[in-house]
Amino acid sequence: MHSQYPLIERYRDFLPVSATTPIISLGEGNTPLIRASNLHHFLGAPSLKLYLKLEGLNPTGSFKDRGMTLAISKAVESGAKAVICASTGNTSASAAAFATKAGLTCYVLLPHGHVALGKLAQAILYGARIIPIKGNFDQALEFVRNLADQCHITIVNSVNPYRLEGQKTAAFEVVEQLEGVPDYLLIPVGNAGNISAYWRGFKLLRKTGGANATPHMFGFEAQGAAAIVRGQPIANPETIATAIRIGNPASWQEAIKAASESDGQIDSVTDDQIIEAYKLLAKLEGIFCEPSSAACLAGLIKHLSMGTIAKDATVVCVLTGNGLKDPDTPLKVSNVDLAPVEADLQKLKTVMGF
Ligand SMILES: *Cc1c(COP(=O)(O)O)cnc(C)c1O
Repeated sequence: MHSQYPLIERYRDFLPVSATTPIISLGEGNTPLIRASNLHHFLGAPSLKLYLKLEGLNPTGSFKDRGMTLAISKAVESGAKAVICASTGNTSASAAAFATKAGLTCYVLLPHGHVALGKLAQAILYGARIIPIKGNFDQALEFVRNLADQCHITIVNSVNPYRLEGQKTAAFEVVEQLEGVPDYLLIPVGNAGNISAYWRGFKLLRKTGGANATPHMFGFEAQGAAAIVRGQPIANPETIATAIRIGNPASWQEAIKAASESDGQIDSVTDDQIIEAYKLLAKLEGIFCEPSSAACLAGLIKHLSMGTIAKDATVVCVLTGNGLKDPDTPLKVSNVDLAPVEADLQKLKTVMGF
């Protein structure tokens, strides 16, 4: 079906909707899959077929919109008047936008001081009821679960089953765009919902004859928040990649299954590796993603050098969110001199080295 249709229309046969389900859409999905032109050479793997799925081009700037269109549509269908979420930022931006479109009230609990500026700006302007809490994401989610129960508000975090159902459509798009299945799919892991959703999507395609194989799923946590890798929750997760600053992932078991069933891995990367990958994407490919998104490229670099990923493989990296959401990080991780120059042609030439 033509890509201008809402995600739910395009993949209706694979989603839990009926002919009467209202569709709340902002033009989500159908994001570009771009072939890298420089990175693989830089990484010493000229035969690598590296593709980047630009999920930051969704309407609110992250993949969360794929799940949110379905979660909000189903909330409207069930007669809900309000929705609630805990968020490291992108879920709140997405929930606020789709809820506004549907005429629902949206409550968001945010970990105070750890939400990227652009995401907060979105939630404010979309008109969400924002409640920063003195605690981290995992604590906020616990409150949200209680509030949803006690106050009869629909929870739209990824524990809402429709979120992952909507998000699995990204796997369908990857196979359509590649006209085949990649050898590896690399993805950042926070709450571990997205890796679980992709795996559902790939398995469903294989089962229904839309594909004859599935990729190895490689998920990457930030080292300071690598609960799954360590095998235990982390009380105080820390990483510069705020979208994956999560110490007790909600989809933990499903993510482990995705990795083991696909003969893949959940691994971790350091903040330094994340920032290096974040810069490489911008400088070599012209792609400005969130630090969290760059965790998958950091993981690719690690596994190419370990030999776990072959240098001639077909690899898809999922770049989960748009770099514009996090305008502070480039300034923090670069040392550019932004001191102004006199408005004088000769001085300008000198500064520019001419
Ligand atoms: C939510 C988010 C993630 C993590 O996805 P999970 O489904 O929680 O694992 C990664 N990157 C960005 C930009 C996100 O918004």
